[in-house]
Amino acid sequence: MNVHESEKIAGMLTELGYQSCSAVEEADIIVFNTCCIRDTAEKHILGNIGDVKHLKKENPFLIVAVVGCMTQQKGMSENLKKKFPFVSIVLGTDNLSDLTLAVRQIEEKNKKFFSCIHDTPDVDVQKDSPLYRTSGTNAWVNIMYGCNNFCTYCIVPYVRGRERSRSPQAVLSEVSDLLKQGYPEITLLGQNVDSYSYEGHDFTYLLEKIAEMDSKFRLRFMTSHPKDFNSRVIDVIASCPNICNNIHLPVQSGSNRVLKLMNRHYTRERYLEIIDEIRSKIPNVGITSDIMTGFPTETDEDFYDTVSLMEKVRFSNAFTFVYSPRKGTVAAQMEQLPKKVKQERITELVKIQNRISAEISKDYLGRTEEILVEDVSPKHQNSVCGRTESGRLVTFAGAPELVGKFVNVKIDSARSSALFGRII
Ligand code: SAH
Ligand code: SF4
Repeated sequence: MNVHESEKIAGMLTELGYQSCSAVEEADIIVFNTCCIRDTAEKHILGNIGDVKHLKKENPFLIVAVVGCMTQQKGMSENLKKKFPFVSIVLGTDNLSDLTLAVRQIEEKNKKFFSCIHDTPDVDVQKDSPLYRTSGTNAWVNIMYGCNNFCTYCIVPYVRGRERSRSPQAVLSEVSDLLKQGYPEITLLGQNVDSYSYEGHDFTYLLEKIAEMDSKFRLRFMTSHPKDFNSRVIDVIASCPNICNNIHLPVQSGSNRVLKLMNRHYTRERYLEIIDEIRSKIPNVGITSDIMTGFPTETDEDFYDTVSLMEKVRFSNAFTFVYSPRKGTVAAQMEQLPKKVKQERITELVKIQNRISAEISKDYLGRTEEILVEDVSPKHQNSVCGRTESGRLVTFAGAPELVGKFVNVKIDSARSSALFGRII
């Protein structure tokens, strides 16, 4: 989501006449697109903003802007202004389209500081901004904004407001343009795509309509929520060859007690039932997840429920997180676990997932997979890399001209979660 928002920022700056540069020292404008979902992300970004102070001294015309969900937290705009007086623009999540106006006003010296934050970003603001797509073969398309779920650990509903779905016409026309431009992969974005709803049209309507738009391209989507992910969605994925057999379904915890405290509205048993249904209907599916440890009051028993769920499901990949309290959320007011316990548990989760990912890699050996070539390999000479439909990264010998094309690759070696093969 943040990558896509950065594309929108780049689009607006390009329209204003700016070009991207390779070194921050050369920049006339620096935009920090922030994220406050986890404490680590926030600390990191604050450090990065501090690091550009000296650049402003060397170039007094440098414009420094801070945008994104971190700015949306209560009092943050004022704090940023106080802590980093060299920042001249602060915009909230729903005010990104004001960036053009803000930069013009600062450039023309009509203003020294431009800030625009909606207290409750729940108004339907979907101003179209120019896009400068930077994600290579994949094009991101927002289908909805915000979230209504209020998982007790999560700050998203507070900083991105209530759920708003874009109209099917807007989404379909954007996707149709992208396919005409030749994008071989489209990824639909939303905090909870399964609750997409617009005048009686649901997520499966969008999936079906998009899948039939062209004969050959890949359709992906994220993120799904287990409480809303249903048989209809599974059936549509199973029946449309253009929709990838790759599902990201964050489980967060394997303990029913913790899931309840998290306000997730599903149980471990229901989650496993969904996994069984997915596996029975979609062959060779790659299932990935987000898993958290260290939620307040999480006991050893709760933690081992998560471990046993991981062993049962065998995710092809999982993003593992240490819970970090976010101001204003329900869980932040609960008694927190010691850092050491959280650290030990995350280390164990990472170890388990790495082993499972490596084991799953072995299942691919000898198989021939269709790969969408995404880029030249950053690590291997004269090679390119791309993904299987199920989402696994494969590296193989090939020329840069292959980027954007589909090729058949025989997988003949695996190193942890990385796969290697040759075009056949
Ligand atoms: N809407 C998606 C993703 C939201 S944020 C969903 O519901 O799954 C991406 C991931 O960040 C979450 O899945 C969760 O695992 C993690 N996350 C959110 N808040 C967090 C917090 N306070 N501490 C640690 N991880 C968090
Ligand atoms: Fe956060 Fe839960 Fe919404 Fe995902 S579904 S964005 S975790 S509140």
